[in-house]
Amino acid sequence: MNTRNLRFRSNYVCDILTLFHEELDAFYGSGEVGIFCEMLCEAFFGWDKITFLLSKNQTVDQSDLLRFHWALEDLKHHRPIQHIIGYTDFCGCRIEVNPDVLIPRPETEEMVESLVGSGQWVVSSILDLCTGSGCIAIAMKKAFPQAEVTAVDVSEKALSVARRNAENNNTEINFLQADILDETFHLSPLTFHLIVSNPPYVRDSERSQMSPNVLDYDPSLALFVPDDDPLRFYRAIATLAKKHLAEDGLLAVEINEAFADETCSLLREQGFLPVVHTDFRGKNRWLTATKKKNFVV
Ligand code: GLN
Repeated sequence: MNTRNLRFRSNYVCDILTLFHEELDAFYGSGEVGIFCEMLCEAFFGWDKITFLLSKNQTVDQSDLLRFHWALEDLKHHRPIQHIIGYTDFCGCRIEVNPDVLIPRPETEEMVESLVGSGQWVVSSILDLCTGSGCIAIAMKKAFPQAEVTAVDVSEKALSVARRNAENNNTEINFLQADILDETFHLSPLTFHLIVSNPPYVRDSERSQMSPNVLDYDPSLALFVPDDDPLRFYRAIATLAKKHLAEDGLLAVEINEAFADETCSLLREQGFLPVVHTDFRGKNRWLTATKKKNFVV
């Protein structure tokens, strides 16, 4: 393919960017398209933000032009930029992603940052349920290097990605394949000081409001729950936390903003004291809970 076939006016970076904006702004908005271009240049050439800003008059060779061409096609088909480049950044860790794992979201990053920065606390053992790419477990291990971190997921494919992510980030994590909804699942008698989870919580009926880049590329297994039982994972998490959370430990879970009250009630009934936290969009996004003292089930 030559430059003409690729529709780019030239192989100058500025012309490539112009074409991206022309073809994608209407769908994604100009700011987002600018970020895509920056991310592609980082992935292709290792450019940081400053280099990117100073390189608009540089030229790229034919093979790189082809890479931009395919990236543009992929973006037009709503393929997530993180799948195109193969990674995302989460709490300063580079996390490989592919269709086997949920792309880590900024809301989850906010929850982790808040947990890590919330005090001078020392956490010696952490359990991450529904770990997916391993992003939460890895960020936690980085923040608390002394902690024993255990991470559980039902999907063997997700765990392969998570294991690679742990290794690439030089973190040691115990990964376990298990379905937490399976009532026979039990962890050997361990106590954790922090149990954290971003389980599936989007109701099936919410699919119609979701964008194609989520619906077509993120794994349904990591996202959806039946409309008639939207809190199924929180019940399982509460049951596990009752057994495995230390008396002075903390439970932290990401939630569906539509179910903050219901999730709190469920946790209260199970002997916890929940507190709801809002995300940067002002939505009820996660909650923390401690065990009620002297709660008798
Ligand atoms: N917050 C994610 C989304 O909106 C859902 C994550 C989850 O189900 N755990 O796509």
